[in-house]
Amino acid sequence: MQTITDLVEVLENRQTLDQAGLTRLLTTPKAEPLYQAADRVRKRTVGDEVHLRGLIEFSNYCRRNCLYCGLRAGNSRLHRYRMTPAEIVATARFAVGLGMKTIVLQSGEDSSYTVSELCAIVQTIKKMGVAVTLSIGERSRSTYAALKEAGADRFLLRIETTNEQLYARMHPGMSYQNRVQCLYTLKELGYETGTGSLVGLPGQTPAMLAADLVFFKELDADMIGLGPFIPSPGTPLAQAAGGAVDLVLKMMALTRLLMPEINMPATTALGVKDPAGYQKGLSCGANVVMPNMGERDYKRLYAPYPGKEGWASNAETQLAKIKAVLQQMGRTVSPGYGFRVRGG
Ligand code: SF4
Repeated sequence: MQTITDLVEVLENRQTLDQAGLTRLLTTPKAEPLYQAADRVRKRTVGDEVHLRGLIEFSNYCRRNCLYCGLRAGNSRLHRYRMTPAEIVATARFAVGLGMKTIVLQSGEDSSYTVSELCAIVQTIKKMGVAVTLSIGERSRSTYAALKEAGADRFLLRIETTNEQLYARMHPGMSYQNRVQCLYTLKELGYETGTGSLVGLPGQTPAMLAADLVFFKELDADMIGLGPFIPSPGTPLAQAAGGAVDLVLKMMALTRLLMPEINMPATTALGVKDPAGYQKGLSCGANVVMPNMGERDYKRLYAPYPGKEGWASNAETQLAKIKAVLQQMGRTVSPGYGFRVRGG
């Protein structure tokens, strides 16, 4: 039987490993060689620069009822907000003033903004000379096409889990097939496409996570976001056990080794779950951080899971903290837009 070091070596040299090998690496108690290999590959391919993407969470309304998410429509405890297009644009301008080269517009699946309103917001922000990423859930092909036409560059749509039974259990009324179809449509339309998983969902096994990794590679995703499941009050999973940081780090390291050129954030949820989460993520393959640009009140209310609102009081403070972490780690803030570098 191959040792852990052998498996890591195969992965580092060939960027591929079968599902059994990936599962073994996900369950090893000795993950250090895996983390070190991911860090080496990150440095070799995407370098020491870290891309800061300014995150604007513009509405916490959602028509869906994902079991794990505090924004689910059934959570009547949550106070809802919706930023006006003018507020969104003003926040983007503020973020650009702070040096952000990408603006990420994120919301629950809120159909109250019309497609032309969303397009106008994208067009206005694009005139500020930045890249625009959307994270607004499942939409029709024509909506994705209109937003691309308006100038949107990237789209984030996490698959959360590729196990169809688990997917169905976690996402009542939603279709796994449709979500996969959305991802392929986004790719076809020319978006840089991001997906990812929620790690540590009740009932999720290492073999299921290994299958997620295979899916990311098959999709040839440009960005992968991986975060720990954090139980949220007001949801059916409020009392469940949360995901482990170590398992997220293993997933991140494996993703970097399988897909050396992708962009991968150290997610907010990782930073919430572990005070050193950002550092750990950046040491295990991450090259992106997404500081929150929103007003304090809105940030408090955008609560898919608890704890994130307390992480930093305002955008400037948060940015200063992130820059201090990067400096400590010998990493630099990228002056570029941070598109995927192919063949790097
Ligand atoms: S995970 Fe997304 S789609 Fe599901 S309830 Fe939360 S915001 Fe809505």
